[in-house]
Amino acid sequence: MRYSAIVLAAGSGKRMQSDVKKQYMEILGRPLIYYALHAFQESRVEEIVLVVSPGDEDYVRNDIVERYGISKVSAIIPGGKERYDSVYEGLKAVHGEYVLIHDGARAFLHNDIIERCLTDVVEHRASVVGMPSKDTIKIVDGDGMVVDTPNRALVWNVQTPQCFETELIRQAHAALRENPDATITDDAMVIERLTDVPVHLIEGDYENVKVTTPDDLRTAESILRSRGF
Ligand code: C5P
Repeated sequence: MRYSAIVLAAGSGKRMQSDVKKQYMEILGRPLIYYALHAFQESRVEEIVLVVSPGDEDYVRNDIVERYGISKVSAIIPGGKERYDSVYEGLKAVHGEYVLIHDGARAFLHNDIIERCLTDVVEHRASVVGMPSKDTIKIVDGDGMVVDTPNRALVWNVQTPQCFETELIRQAHAALRENPDATITDDAMVIERLTDVPVHLIEGDYENVKVTTPDDLRTAESILRSRGF
């Protein structure tokens, strides 16, 4: 098998201030997590490993995966405490030579981005989706004082999918478990810190945001409507 995806949905979603977990909140009548699953289902990706909060497996299998016919889901795995723990668990169930790791809360993923990922990762071994920063970024010290302003032309905001040769990211995550590092916030950083393989950036989409707060839900509806949902 060539291409797998890991869809991460094991977060607590606290910033949504809702009783229903963020990943299961309904947008246009379907749970948030449906939209990322649908994008991979319709793509050239051959299997989807879905990582959920421990205890949610049966609900997700019956009420989402089977109900909406997401037949490429090959495993529903309980996640871990931190995002990188969930990725580590998901990687154990992956069969593809390459893996696309995606935040389930990024509901606006579309096939053009997935196709760019599938091509780029074969050439570069480690490729992450992002967009040039529209804002000027400041680096501050612990007292809130500005210490540096990087050249905006070289600053990107990173999104997902983050795409890797499966063995490369597996080995990097195994090394991370030996030396845990709480400052690691995405999978590209695992490669940057624990291997000497350079990471390549792929252009994503300014709309490929994470649905995080209640405000995002309204924006989400209008973006998804404009996509024909
Ligand atoms: O919390 P944050 O929005 O950064 O999470 C990004 C993605 O990682 C979300 O899709 C979330 O469900 C997932 N996640 C996870 N396991 C965790 C923490 C986050 O699968 N322990």
